[in-house]
Formats: sequence, C-alpha cells, structure tokens
Amino acid sequence: MLRVAVVGGGPSGSCAAEVLAKAGIETWLFERKLDNAKPCGGAIPLCMVEEFDLPESIIDRKVRNMRMISPSNREVDIHLENSNEYIGMCRREVLDGFLRNRAAELGAHLVNGLVQSIDTGSQRQGPYTLHYADYSSGGPTGELKTLEVDLIVGADGANSRVAKAMMWLTRGYNQTAAEVIGDALFEENHENMVMVRDIEMYSMCEHHMLPFFGKVHIAYIPNGKIVGLSKLLWLSVIRSRRLRWLREPVAI
Ligand SMILES: Cc1cc2nc3c(=O)[nH]c(=O)nc-3n(C[C@H](O)[C@H](O)[C@H](O)COP(=O)(O)OP(=O)(O)OC[C@H]3O[C@@H](n4cnc5c(N)ncnc54)[C@H](O)[C@@H]3O)c2cc1C
Repeated sequence: MLRVAVVGGGPSGSCAAEVLAKAGIETWLFERKLDNAKPCGGAIPLCMVEEFDLPESIIDRKVRNMRMISPSNREVDIHLENSNEYIGMCRREVLDGFLRNRAAELGAHLVNGLVQSIDTGSQRQGPYTLHYADYSSGGPTGELKTLEVDLIVGADGANSRVAKAMMWLTRGYNQTAAEVIGDALFEENHENMVMVRDIEMYSMCEHHMLPFFGKVHIAYIPNGKIVGLSKLLWLSVIRSRRLRWLREPVAI
C-alpha cells in the first residue's frame, strides 16, 4: 500500500491528509505544535464553511464591518450591506485542530512531531526516510524517530523552504518602479531614443510555475527627463521577478 507523509498540520496539510485517508492511503500527518495559535486574522469566507464542510461552531464571531491595516499602513474598509452575509472569524487553534482531527478520524496517523530532515533514497527516487522529533510523550526535545514513506506532501506553511525560495524568485512584487528609480531622474531636452540592450532576464512562467530566461531590451524617447541607465536594469529585475506570461507585452 502507498505510504504518504504530510508534513504540516495546518489547513493545507490536514485537508490533504483527509483526502488521502478517505482514499484508503496509509497517511501520516506531522504537526510540530498541536495547540498553535497562529498570527492569523482567522477570517474565512462563507463559501469556505460549505466547501470544507465546517460546523458553524468553528465560527467564533460573525463580522460585517471590518478595517484591515497592512504592515505598510494601507487601510481597506469592508462593509457588508446584506444582513445575511458575514465574514466568519475563527480561532486558528480551533480550526486547524478540527481539520487535523477529522483527518485522524478518517484514518490518518496524527503525529505530534517536528520533521527535521529527509533522506531521499537512491537517486532521490525514494522511498523517503523522515527523521523527526516525536513530542507525543511531552518532553521539550522530543524523541528522535524515523519513518519510511513512498511520498511526501510538503504543507509546512508560509515559512517553508519552498515558500522562501518562491519569495525570492518573485521578489519583484515587493518593489515598484517609483521606488527603484527614486530621484535618479534628470532634466534633458534631447529627444533621441535611449536604449539598453541584452539585459539578462530570469523569470517564472505564470502558467507552469517553471523558470524561463532570455534577454531584455528597454528603449524610450525622453520627454524632458532621462533616467539613470542602471535603473533600467533594476526595472527589468522588478518585471522579470514576478510570474510572467512568456508572450506578455511588457509595461512597467
Ligand atoms: C498575520 C496573518 C494574518 C492572516 N490572516 C488571514 C485571514 O484572516 N484569513 C485567511 O484565510 N488567512 C489569513 N492568513 C493566511 C493563513 O494563515 C495561511 O494562508 C494559512 O495558515 C496557510 O495554511 P497552511 O496549512 O498552508 O500553512 P500553515 O497554517 O502555516 O501550516 C503549516 C503547519 O506546518 C507546521 N510545520 C512547519 N514545519 C514543520 C515541520 N518541519 N514538521 C512538522 N510540522 C511543521 C507548522 O507548525 C504549521 O502548523 C494570515 C496570515 C498571517 C501571517
């Protein structure tokens, strides 16, 4: 029988474990901290209650007016006009615990453990050996154990290594053209085309999430101002370090 380990018992991992267990696959669900109250607003849309078959008791508060403030102090107000509608606020330790326990009731083995390393088998083809600290007996350091499986589902959340790699590969979303150019704009009266050619470009395809690379040429005709040439390289980085369509027209 196929053996699958799901690393991370948040909503993603728990739902994955639930689906696997329902399909009769031998599943282990690893969660390092079972009572984790995450730094999350806990807001869930109404459709999620139905789609994930959640009991109404999961919803802690029903909110119709909300102001969201981003770390950069941008504010968004939400006012729901329809009295039947609301945003469900839930406590993450309750929601996550419910989803994990549901997977366990369906047959997944819930392990209170921190996966520390993975041996990927010969030629990285598996079977895979997980090395983990098992906290089920309550000690602070856990008991070191291993488990051999055929497949691993990585659901270890926003701080996962995969997520960090993706943040770097898509870092262009965190920068704007105005920030990059700053005050490197200079008065200039000529109207000859300015061009920088053959800028190396590495990007990710929006559709396949796979890398592609090529060369970028940037050209413009000054209209009273010119920009420092090195800034054009940075503009190219902003643009390419976002998910891109291969044949997308370029505009910044
Ligand atoms: C400040 C903030 C506010 C947010 N507000 C909202 C909101 O209001 N509404 C909303 O829908 N979303 C919100 N989110 C987003 C939401 O928290 C995430 O989308 C959601 O938690 C992702 O679920 P996940 O299962 O992928 O990851 P996570 O919930 O992060 O779960 C990953 C799990 O993996 C475990 N883990 C990690 N490494 C290991 C390991 N090596 N071994 C074992 N276990 C491991 C972690 O303990 C964790 O429980 C917010 C996020 C933040 C940061």
